[in-house]
This record gives sequence, C-alpha cells and structure tokens, in this order.
Amino acid sequence: MWDIIVVGAGAAGLMTAICAAREGARVLMLDGAARVGAKILMSGGTRCNVTNRRVSEKDYESEAKRSVRNILRAFSSERAVEFFKELGVELVLEPGGKYFPRTHSARTVLEALLRETKRLGVVLETDRKATGIQKRGEVFFVSGAHFKYESKTVVITTGGMSHPSTGSDGSGYKIAEALGHRLVPMFPALTPLLTEDKDLKALAGISLDARLSLCQDRKKKIAFEGGFLFTHFGFSGPTALNISRHWFLAQKENRAAAIELNFLPQEDEAAFSKHLDTLAAQAPIRLVKNFLFAKLPARLAELVLEKSQISERRAVAQFSRLERTTLVRNLFHFPLPVSGVYGYQKAEVTAGGVPLEEIDDTTMESRRLRGLYFAGEILDADGRIGGFNFQWSWSTGCLAGRAARAFSLALAKSGEGKILN
Ligand SMILES: Cc1cc2nc3c(=O)[nH]c(=O)nc-3n(C[C@H](O)[C@H](O)[C@H](O)COP(=O)(O)OP(=O)(O)OC[C@H]3O[C@@H](n4cnc5c(N)ncnc54)[C@H](O)[C@@H]3O)c2cc1C
Repeated sequence: MWDIIVVGAGAAGLMTAICAAREGARVLMLDGAARVGAKILMSGGTRCNVTNRRVSEKDYESEAKRSVRNILRAFSSERAVEFFKELGVELVLEPGGKYFPRTHSARTVLEALLRETKRLGVVLETDRKATGIQKRGEVFFVSGAHFKYESKTVVITTGGMSHPSTGSDGSGYKIAEALGHRLVPMFPALTPLLTEDKDLKALAGISLDARLSLCQDRKKKIAFEGGFLFTHFGFSGPTALNISRHWFLAQKENRAAAIELNFLPQEDEAAFSKHLDTLAAQAPIRLVKNFLFAKLPARLAELVLEKSQISERRAVAQFSRLERTTLVRNLFHFPLPVSGVYGYQKAEVTAGGVPLEEIDDTTMESRRLRGLYFAGEILDADGRIGGFNFQWSWSTGCLAGRAARAFSLALAKSGEGKILN
C-alpha cells in the first residue's frame, strides 16, 4: 500500500510528490499522458515564467479569495524561488516581476523537478489515466484501464481542460464530483479573443503596448496594460488573454460588456488633444498620417484614420473639430469588436473547478473525504499572466504533499480507524 498516490504529474503533482517524499513518504505518481510536463515545456513561450516577485490574492480570480491568500502566504513566491535554487535552477527577474530560469528554457525547470522526484524515490508511471477513485474503509483505490492501486491518501492534481492534447482533459473534475465535490462552473481563461472584423484581422502580426478596459453600463470594470497582438483570428498578447475571462463571464451572465482599446496608454488624452491643436498652428501642412506614424505602426495608424473616416491626405490644419474628436476617441477608446473567445484549445488555464470552501486551506484536504487532497489548476482559482498560475501549483502542491504525508504518518501511528471519520 502506498502512503500517497498523486494523480497527475504536472507542475502541482510534481511539487506535491517532492514535498511529500522529502518528509519520507512512499509516493506513486500516475499520469495519463505518455510524457509528463507538457504544459511546463510550452509555458512562457517555452521559457517558463515560474513565478512572480509579488504575488497576492489580488492576482487571482476565485469564489474564495481569502483561502487563496492563506494558501499563497503559507508557501510564498520567495519560497518558490528558494526551492528552485535548491534544485539548481537559478531564476532571473524580468519586467513585470516575472521570474524565468536563467537558461531561458522551460526544460531546465521540468528536468530539475523530475530529477528531484527520482532522487527521492518517487515512482512515476505514465500512460496511467485514472478513471475512478474509491475509498473503502480507510483505503483508497485508484483505478483505470488495467490497473488498480491502494493508498492511504490521494492527491488529485489533474489540472484543467486547456490544451487538452497535453493530457489535461478535465477527467479529474468528474472524479472530484464522484467523490462528493461541487464544481464552480468551468470556462476557458487566458485565451485569445475572436473578431469578425476583416480590417482588424488584416493587421495580423502587429504588436504594441496597449491598455484594454472592460466597460459595463459606461463604467470601467477592469483594465489591463501591456502587450497586445493582432492575429488572423482576432486579438492576443497578455492584455487580451487577461481580459478574456472577464469578457466571457459578462457575456455568459447577459451583462452587456464592451472592450475599449487605448493605443497610447503612455500618453495623456487631454494633453494629446491639446498637442494636436498646437500642431495645427505650428506645422499646419503636416499630414495627420505622418504625425500618427511617429506614434503607431504605419498599417495600424492608417486603419485608425480609416475607421475615423479621415482622409490619409488630410493636413493637421484642415482638421475639423469633429474629426479631431473622433480621432482622439478612436486612439484612446477604440471599441474593440470582439465576437467570442478562442476556447480551451488556446486557453492557458481553466477558470472554476473544485471550490476552495470545500477544502481546508491549511492542508488542501477535502472537507468531504478525509485523506483526499487537491492541488493546482483543478481548484477554483485562476491567475493572470505573470507566473501566478505556476505559483498556485507550487503553493497548493507543497501544502498538499506535506499534509498528506502527515496524515499517512498519523494513520500509521494511531492505528487505522482511530483518526478517521
Ligand atoms: C501555453 C501555456 C503557457 C503557459 N505559460 C505559463 C507561464 O509561463 N507561467 C504560469 O504561471 N503559468 C503558465 N501556464 C499555466 C500553467 O501551465 C498551469 O497553470 C499549470 O500547468 C497547472 O498545473 P497542474 O499541475 O495543476 O496541471 P497540468 O500542468 O495540466 O497537469 C495535469 C497533469 O495531470 C494529468 N492528468 C489529467 N487527468 C488525469 C487522469 N485522469 N489520470 C492521470 N493523469 C491525469 C495530465 O496528463 C497532466 O500531466 C501556461 C499554460 C499554457 C497552456
């Protein structure tokens, strides 16, 4: 009988196994995929944004932000940086507080985690997709096609449903439900936005720094600033990915929401408008187009003029007040025509999942079934871009691994049955 079976050998599963095995537990890790760590390898543009310098519950969405805070405090990003240093992975800081491995390779991270599990004697079995988990008496049975294992505790770290080809196909949610858990409705998060606008699709490949705001009832609900990318299907880049869950949720709940794009987030709108006025006096024959070329990629500047119905040959001095107002509005409050989100195929994470109110946030143990634990993306918490989702896996994984070890030890010491419900 195993002390702990970890179902799913992604970021959270590997962390769980390491933290449990370091305390002396006998750990079996099962993964349905033939090769583990696919998401670590594809993360951060294959560079793996491991964590962030500043992490708090404000960087996440969840029904239970207080639990998110408690969990992140129990295993902070400083601890994660230290942990990887111990494994020989030096992390370097990049703008936005993002930590990446000095090697710029996600493989360094995956290999270090796998090396540590091996050193600690964790047994990893691939091509072992769990389809059922039952508890009879004090024993857990984890089964799938052609296998059945027994264990004192089980940690479910099966991830979400994004990029299902990696092995994270959502089967863990069904198992959690069968074990008595409710699920906060799931939907794709950190996913690109779609558009039907042919003119905007034609800008595919252009990237810039921008600010996206979600507006409802003429009020700004949330805004993100940073990289923005036009693609042949719509919009991507960190700002588009970050705002996607908020737009999706608003549509789902029938709350009319619009996304506004500010092409010049570093500039002050009033000052910009005034500058156009003074330019009309100082350089009256300068083309508006040329003025915009200094601010934006040429093709984009042309499109903004076209959408503002301003001729490319218009000189600054010929500008009517209405044209000036329209141009400024389109530069600072461009109504982004979004028709949908790309969905799980391109989502970085899954929002929703096992509710944290059903989990003890000091141990990650289920409040429904003793000896059962959860960690990682399967839980109801999703972070924004910046290393926050991996941090969630490290924090929850470490808590779950240690607590599951303590539980299995207590079970052995006090005699089975005594400490159980
Ligand atoms: C393209 C992309 C880029 C990303 N970049 C970053 C980044 O730079 N920084 C960041 O913080 N986050 C990033 N993320 C998010 C991050 O990868 C996830 O938050 C993280 O991998 C979640 O870890 P996890 O262990 O919970 O789940 P996963 O990594 O999804 O691992 C789950 C594992 O469980 C296995 N499994 C599933 N069901 C079963 C079953 N029934 N039986 C057995 N095994 C099962 C799967 O095969 C998989 O190996 C990115 C995600 C994507 C898709």
